[in-house]
Amino acid sequence: MNVLLAGGAGYIGSHTAVELLNSGYNVIIADNYSNSDKKAIDRIEKITDKKVISYTADIIDKIVVSEIFKNNQIDVVIHFAGLKAVGESVKKPLIYYRNNIDTTITLLECMAEYGCKNIVFSSSATVYGEENDIPYVETMKKGTCSNPYGWTKSMMEQILSDASVADSELSVILLRYFNPIGAHESGLIGEDPKGIPNNLMPYISQVAVGRRDHLTIFGNDYPTKDGTCRRDYIHITDLAKGHVKAVEYAAKHKGPEIFNLGTGTPYSVLEIVNAFEKANNIKIKYEFDERRSGDLPEFWANSDKAQRVLDWTATRTLEDMCKDTWNWQKNNPNGYE
Ligand code: NAD
Ligand code: UDP
Repeated sequence: MNVLLAGGAGYIGSHTAVELLNSGYNVIIADNYSNSDKKAIDRIEKITDKKVISYTADIIDKIVVSEIFKNNQIDVVIHFAGLKAVGESVKKPLIYYRNNIDTTITLLECMAEYGCKNIVFSSSATVYGEENDIPYVETMKKGTCSNPYGWTKSMMEQILSDASVADSELSVILLRYFNPIGAHESGLIGEDPKGIPNNLMPYISQVAVGRRDHLTIFGNDYPTKDGTCRRDYIHITDLAKGHVKAVEYAAKHKGPEIFNLGTGTPYSVLEIVNAFEKANNIKIKYEFDERRSGDLPEFWANSDKAQRVLDWTATRTLEDMCKDTWNWQKNNPNGYE
């Protein structure tokens, strides 16, 4: 079976490519490398000892994407191609709406043209918004997003669901990720943010490797046991394996389906810092600062549906996440550079 990974050279896409190839799927990656590096493709091939077909392509561009569909019999699309920096989305909303929504529409149009009936989409826990109780369950109504990035995810879910109403043959799998961290156990692929990291774990690992002086912890006065925010961190390999299950499921399913992919266990920012220090025997310098605008105090997943329907569950521990992050960062201090 041929799986097209739009945005597949990025953090989640590259790890998913490895798991798909190891499960016997053929992988085609199309990426414009706006937030990734072509070296990721070589590393995927090195880990798996398998070939990847790759295209430098802007997924917005219908002519370019049509060519990919024309030259390859695509059975399933996984749509990772998106801009994802929350703060940047507040400053440049139109760029976010244009990129994230147009990539989705182009993919759906090309799928319709070439008879591809299965799409798995990278959504986010952010679509639960500010109103819902925790843990988040797929049956909850979506909420009010606090930034344009979140709204693009919410809107793209709607566009994909509407497309599946119009075409009853279409299988649409919306994967709501919680907080992916860690790296492949080989240390050959991992998270390589361009510029200053927005997310917690890459920031910690860049402090550990000496690229940043200290971590700033955003807020220590939240109503949590140590005052810092709590999130549901999930090992990237567990998340990638969830995509393999979703691809299997998409191929035998019709209509829209939502799955949370998380562990169900939240950790605070301070717990993550302490776990990283303990797992890797490294001190992480940190300072407390003001709350970051838009952050919720805490949320985590109920992933019972993924376990029940996809036979998927996260198995890796927080220690695994911390050790694998450090294995990647210390072997690649400047990422793929
Ligand atoms: P990433 O930035 O590492 O990967 C996204 C990839 O898409 C990059 O390789 C980028 O170059 C590519 N891309 C972006 N726009 C493109 C376009 N127009 N044409 C072609 N390629 C394009 O991010 P990631 O962490 O791997 O996230 C993958 C997806 O999962 C994104 O849609 C993101 O919003 C979503 N997501 C990520 C997280 C997270 O914490 N990492 C959480 C929830 C959802
Ligand atoms: N965080 C932090 N310092 C940083 C980056 C993140 O204290 O440099 C905190 C952030 O406030 C949140 C948690 O770490 O409480 C996870 O943030 P991240 O951006 O990784 O993921 P989010 O849950 O916001 O998508």
